[in-house]
Amino acid sequence: RELVSAAAEGDELQIEAALRPKRLSEFIGQGRVREQLSLVLESALRRQRPPDHVLMNGSPGLGKTTLAMIIAAELNAPLRITSGPALERAGDLASILSTLAEGEVLFIDEIHRMARPAEEMLYLAMEDFRVDIVVGKGPGATAIPLDIAPFTLVGATTRAGLLPAPLRDRFGFTAHMDFYEVGELEQVLNRSAKLLGVTLPGEGAHEIARRSRGTPRIANRLLRRVRDFADVRADGVVNRDIASAALNLYEVDAEGLDRLDRAVLGVLLKKFGGGPVGLSTLAVAVGEEPETVEVVAEPFLVRQGLLARTPRGRVATAAAWSHLGLTPPPDAFG
Ligand code: ADP
Repeated sequence: RELVSAAAEGDELQIEAALRPKRLSEFIGQGRVREQLSLVLESALRRQRPPDHVLMNGSPGLGKTTLAMIIAAELNAPLRITSGPALERAGDLASILSTLAEGEVLFIDEIHRMARPAEEMLYLAMEDFRVDIVVGKGPGATAIPLDIAPFTLVGATTRAGLLPAPLRDRFGFTAHMDFYEVGELEQVLNRSAKLLGVTLPGEGAHEIARRSRGTPRIANRLLRRVRDFADVRADGVVNRDIASAALNLYEVDAEGLDRLDRAVLGVLLKKFGGGPVGLSTLAVAVGEEPETVEVVAEPFLVRQGLLARTPRGRVATAAAWSHLGLTPPPDAFG
């Protein structure tokens, strides 16, 4: 069973890679970010210098990794990819930094999860293109400064609030990635359908886009589930009814809420009378890590106007009660 799911996950990653736009001009949506980024890249190319470090902030699946790859491609520069959790010791980072080529793009995903010593090494590297290699231990230890090639750091985070200010301040530019509009997701789906050879009429694309939680990764994933359904239960054409039936089967509701979203709302309403309730209490009640609830479920529920974050805790809105078909207690919004 594990083998099967590992294989499925490998497949999933391969397909995801195949669907990635390669150039900025192919990247759909995020108009403001695209314009900001194209200026930064264009001027760096003209000055023939690596551009400022770029921080990308936004929910999972909005295209941060894709943009990092595009940045390297547009600069015609090599790309090195790592992640915060992989940089446990300063030495892990030092060995990457000291082998960067001039102008290389270093992508650190989940940069907020980097260990402290690595973080401090990164400050110096970002600012002065230098690392201090510590030799020896205790009072006899000495730091040997080592110059590194000028590079561009691209950091991605789902939680910019967790980045220490000194790190945040060393980025020349922060790209804030928003959830996508339905029309933009339709474009993502049409592009993917072409690449995957799926027949996707406009109404089918619209139905999937509407229910994709504003997220291209989810849109692409749902497209594949709906395609399976269309192949097995129908003639392969993803029309509106087929899309709708398939998404119902996969427990994606009419507003695009998935199981976790509905579990969070359900617990908030039924167990805590609509709140306010603290994040960790809510997470325990749905059997998830607080970070999963906060990063994966909440931003979308907030954007849909179903949940609010207040200083006293999470609160359900009137729309949440009606979405789940429940009646709020009489004093709920007094
Ligand atoms: P993140 O790094 O933010 O989690 P990714 O960059 O891995 O997200 O994107 C997830 C998937 O969504 C990729 O397969 C990519 O093809 C697709 N995708 C993301 N943004 C776009 C976009 N703007 N246009 C087309 N496809 C996109």
